[in-house]
Amino acid sequence: MKEEKNTRKPLIYYYIVAITVIMLLNTLVFPLFNNRKVTEVDYGTFLEAVDSGKVTSVEVHEAQKEIFYTVVNNGQETIYVTKAMNDPDLVNRLYNSKNEIHFTSVIPEQNSPLVNFIISWILPLLFFIGLGQLFSRQLANRMGGNVLTFGKSNAKIYVEAETGITFDDVAGQDEAKEALSEIVDFLHDPDKYTKIGATLPKGALLVGPPGTGKTLLAKAVAGEAKVPFFSISGSEFVEMFVGMGAAKVRDLFKQAAEKAPCIVFIDEIDTIGKKRDSSGFPGNDEREQTLNQLLTEMDGFDGNKGVVILAATNRPEILDKALLRPGRFDRRIPVELPDLKGREAILKVHAKKVKLADDVDFNAIARATSGASGADLANIVNEAALRAVRCGRTMVTQSDLEESIEVIIAGYQRKNAVISPKEKEIIAYHEIGHALVAAKQKDSAPVHKITIIPRTSGALGYTMQVEEDEHRLLTKEAAFNKIATLTGGRAAEELIFNTVTTGAANDIEQATRLARAMVTRFGMSENFDMTALETINNQYLGGDATLACSPETASRIDQEVISIIKKAHEKAINILKDNQDKLHELARYLLEKETITGEEFMAILNG
Ligand code: ADP
Ligand code: MG
Ligand code: ZN
Repeated sequence: MKEEKNTRKPLIYYYIVAITVIMLLNTLVFPLFNNRKVTEVDYGTFLEAVDSGKVTSVEVHEAQKEIFYTVVNNGQETIYVTKAMNDPDLVNRLYNSKNEIHFTSVIPEQNSPLVNFIISWILPLLFFIGLGQLFSRQLANRMGGNVLTFGKSNAKIYVEAETGITFDDVAGQDEAKEALSEIVDFLHDPDKYTKIGATLPKGALLVGPPGTGKTLLAKAVAGEAKVPFFSISGSEFVEMFVGMGAAKVRDLFKQAAEKAPCIVFIDEIDTIGKKRDSSGFPGNDEREQTLNQLLTEMDGFDGNKGVVILAATNRPEILDKALLRPGRFDRRIPVELPDLKGREAILKVHAKKVKLADDVDFNAIARATSGASGADLANIVNEAALRAVRCGRTMVTQSDLEESIEVIIAGYQRKNAVISPKEKEIIAYHEIGHALVAAKQKDSAPVHKITIIPRTSGALGYTMQVEEDEHRLLTKEAAFNKIATLTGGRAAEELIFNTVTTGAANDIEQATRLARAMVTRFGMSENFDMTALETINNQYLGGDATLACSPETASRIDQEVISIIKKAHEKAINILKDNQDKLHELARYLLEKETITGEEFMAILNG
C-alpha cells in the first residue's frame, strides 16, 4: 500500500537499523570494555614469567579460576591470562620473586542478569524510540501548516484558522467575487437564511484556466467570513490516502461538521471527481469509491449547519455529472483570464509590494499582456523587481516591467550569443517583414516593439504587437490578416534573399492553428459553412482539439487550410513587394539598433 510507503516505512526502516545497532553494541563493542585485551597462555609460561622477573602485577580471579598478570617488556605492558591451578606454592613464589609483584585476589561482583538485560537492551531501545519520535515529529512540522491527525491513520489535512486573505487581495474577477459574497454572508449569519427557509448551495465549483486565482478566491472567502478553512487537493487525496480515500472523505466531513461554520476546499477536484466510465478499466475502484463517498457526504450533511464546500478545477468537462447536479456543486463560478481592466487591477495589487518609479504606466503593461493570467502578472511584477535589483536601482521602472513581459513571453536575453552578420541580416528582414505586413493591413494591432536580440526561449528576434483596446471578437478579415502577418517574416526572406530558412517554424505553427480553427470551429469557410468539425477537449488547458468528422472531410479541411495560408502568404509577399524600399530602410535601421520602438518604426514608414 502506498500509504505505508509514505508515512510508516521510513520509521520501520529506522527501527530495524536501531535494533541492529543495539545488537552489534551488545555482541561486539561492550565486551571490549569488559574484557581487557588479553593473551591466553598456559600455566607453565606464567610461572616462567614470574621467575624471570618480568611480571609486575597479578590478579587472581577466584570465581572464574583465572589469573591475569601483567608483563613489562621494554616499557610495554602486556596482559596475559591463564587458567588457575591448585597451586599452594604460588603465593610464596610471587612473594619471593626477584622483583616486586603486586598481587591480589579479586572476587568480581556479578550484576544480576535482570539488571544486565535492562542496561544492555531496554535502555538503548528506549533511547532509540525517543529519538524516533523526535524525528517523526520534526518531519511533521516540516510539512508545514496546522496538521490535524485523522482517525486511526496518520494522514493529514490542512486547516487554517484564518487565511488572512480577503477579497481585496483578489483583483478583477468581480463576477466571481459577487457570486461568492453570498456565501460569505451566509457563513457570517446562517440564521438570516434559515429563518426564511432558504438553503444555500452546498457547494460551489470554481472553474477556469490555471493561475487565474481560484485557490486565492477560495481562501479569500474563508478570510472574509473569518471561518476555518479546510483545504485538500485532489491529488493529495489520491496520493496520501490510497486504500482509504472513502474513509478520509468521511473523516474530513466529520471534522468539518464539528468546526462549522467553515469552508471545505477541494482543489483540483478533477483528480477524484472524474467521470465514472463503463470502460471497465481496472484500478478505478478506489477512485470511484472515494467519489461515491464524496457524493454521499454532500447529500448527507445538513446545508444549514454552515459547512460550505468549494472546489476548483480547470477541467470541468471531465467531472462526473453526479457531482454537478443540484444539491451538490450546483453553483459553477467561472474564473476566466482577466480582461484589460482586470489585468491592470491585478498588476496594481501585486505592485503594492514593490517600490515604483513615477514613470510606471500599468495600463500600458496591461495592454501588452493580453492573455496573461493573474499568476503570470504576479510573476511579471516580481521579475521587474528582480531586474531593478540586478541593475542596482532601488525602484521598479516602466522599462523593468516591459522587459519582464518579454522575459515571460520569450525568456531572458542572450546578449553574448554569437550570430553571424549574414544571419543577423536575415533575422532583421524577417522581423521587419512581419511588422510591415501588420502595419499595411487594416484590423492589425499596432507594432509596439521589434527586436533582434536573441532570447533563451530560442527566439532569434520578435515583433511585439499591442492592441489599442481589448477585442473580444475576431472577424474573418482580421483572422486572415493575422495569418498574413505571420507569413510576413518568411515572405521577406524569400523576397530579399531568395531563400527560405528554418526561422519561420513558430510562425508556421501559429498560422496553421489559426487557419485550422477558422475552418473547423469558427465557420469561416464557404465550403463547410457553420459546421463544427472539431471539438475542444479541455478549453482551459491549451485547448487541443479532436476532429469530429469523416476522413474524407478531414482531407478537405486540410485542402482548405492550405489554401487560406497560401492566399495569406501571397498577400504578404505583395505587400512587401510594394514597399520594398521601406523594407530595406527599416531592416537596415533595425540591424544597427537591434531594438526599435513602434514609434520609430512608424516614423520611418511614414517619413
Ligand atoms: P489557480 O488556483 O486558479 O490556478 P491561484 O489562485 O493559485 O491560481 O493563483 C496563483 C497566484 O496568482 C496567486 O497566488 C496570486 O499571486 C496570483 N493571482 C492570480 N489571480 C489573481 C487575482 N485575480 N488577483 C491577484 N492575484 C492573482
Ligand atoms: Mg489552484
Ligand atoms: Zn517570424
